[in-house]
Amino acid sequence: MIKEEINNKIKMDEIISFAKRKGFVFQGSDIYGGVAGLYDYGPNGVELLNNIKKSWWYHNVQLKPNYYGLDSAIFKDPRVWEASGHTTSFSDPMAECRACNTRLRVDKVLEGVGVDADEKMSEEEINKLFYENKGKIKCTKCGGNDFTDAKAFNLLVKSNMGDFAEQGNSPVYLPGEASQGIYINFKNIVDAVHPNIPFGVAQIGKAFRNEISPRNFLFRTREFEQADTQLFLKPGDNDKEYEQIKQDRWQWYKQIGLSEQNLRWKQHNNLVFYAKDAWDIEYSFPTYGFDEIEGVHNRGDYDLTVHSKHSGVDLSFIEQSTSERFIPHVLETSMGLGRVFLAVLAEAYTIDNLGGDERVVLKFSKELAPVKVAVLPLLKNKPELVDKAKEVFNMLLPHMTTVYDASGSVGKRYRRQDEIGTPHCITVDFDSLEDDSVTIRDRDTGKQERVKITELLKILT
Ligand code: ATP
Repeated sequence: MIKEEINNKIKMDEIISFAKRKGFVFQGSDIYGGVAGLYDYGPNGVELLNNIKKSWWYHNVQLKPNYYGLDSAIFKDPRVWEASGHTTSFSDPMAECRACNTRLRVDKVLEGVGVDADEKMSEEEINKLFYENKGKIKCTKCGGNDFTDAKAFNLLVKSNMGDFAEQGNSPVYLPGEASQGIYINFKNIVDAVHPNIPFGVAQIGKAFRNEISPRNFLFRTREFEQADTQLFLKPGDNDKEYEQIKQDRWQWYKQIGLSEQNLRWKQHNNLVFYAKDAWDIEYSFPTYGFDEIEGVHNRGDYDLTVHSKHSGVDLSFIEQSTSERFIPHVLETSMGLGRVFLAVLAEAYTIDNLGGDERVVLKFSKELAPVKVAVLPLLKNKPELVDKAKEVFNMLLPHMTTVYDASGSVGKRYRRQDEIGTPHCITVDFDSLEDDSVTIRDRDTGKQERVKITELLKILT
């Protein structure tokens, strides 16, 4: 089989077990039997995740002088979630199998049988579609098809924190989305940094949702991270900026190594009442097919208006050049880090043939690779080689994520590094002791080059 054919047949199950074996992702609370919808990032996974975050921050904050960073508290006054509408309408349609009580998320089940449904439909609308298509739907657990009606199921996760819980007030919620922290800090940011409009705020934060049926590995979890930007702008300036944001986001996905053939835009047919426009960026996952990794939303003035009303604090903006006062409109980008992590892993996962051997290699971009370089002494029982290799290792360590690996044959060590996507391996051999040079091997081509140790840092950085 040629490479394309092999790689088109890769199944998500293969990637999931690989991710565990190689220390990328573990099931949450694994030793207690695992908890559905929760995952832990292992030693290689956390490096990859952090590199995705770093790249996102670099492109959305550092390179954009009118964007400011934020890290807001997870817990918020419960009124935040009342104002935003989450306590009443942050829900998905749920039905239960009457035979085994398995819960179904009805809009997704309908989508799965080719019906255009979504979570924003009213109970009446979704139940009509549910009845019309019942013949095609089977319970995922017992195969039955006798279900309760679909009902709106609120996704907010409740908690009990200090004062709020003790006073018997409304429950405290974990954030259903990270972006509310940005709206409630709008005035603080304006007062602190005096930005001109348009300006943006970026934040990476945790979100929690009582998903009805967590599934598809990192794709639908109950705890996840979102990387969000909110651009605040003058009413009327939306369309041009919206197009620019969409282009920027597309470019970033290409920059981190996702291929354009695996990406596409999808416009929402069904908008919430305040939204002006909404698009999703979808990625074509092995096995799962195309699905959402990020939403780009034109939200009008809804968010600042409701928080002004509920908090009693005026969140309008006065433009310095015109002295005009208005409630800014918001353009939002909201990306799920777990989904993007999975897309990056799936895109990088490659089976190819190198020097006659089939291998698994993660072809991460150098920017995202969890380990940037591995240093290998040719033999581990020759102290002079080990000393020299340690010297090279210690030289590189402060500058990039570097590992030292001395166990097994050099060939096996190369394969091990290929499997976690390390772009370069440095081998220290007997010639190194004479001429202070080493071989540097390229992950993708397997080509080796001889370079002076003094040149290494320059080449690698
Ligand atoms: P879906 O329709 O798939 O439930 P959504 O439209 O509710 O997603 P948003 O509220 O727009 O998602 O959240 C923004 C991003 O957060 C999504 O594009 C996705 O990448 C991520 N996200 C949302 N829910 C989850 C989840 N349960 N697990 C992992 N990531 C999620």
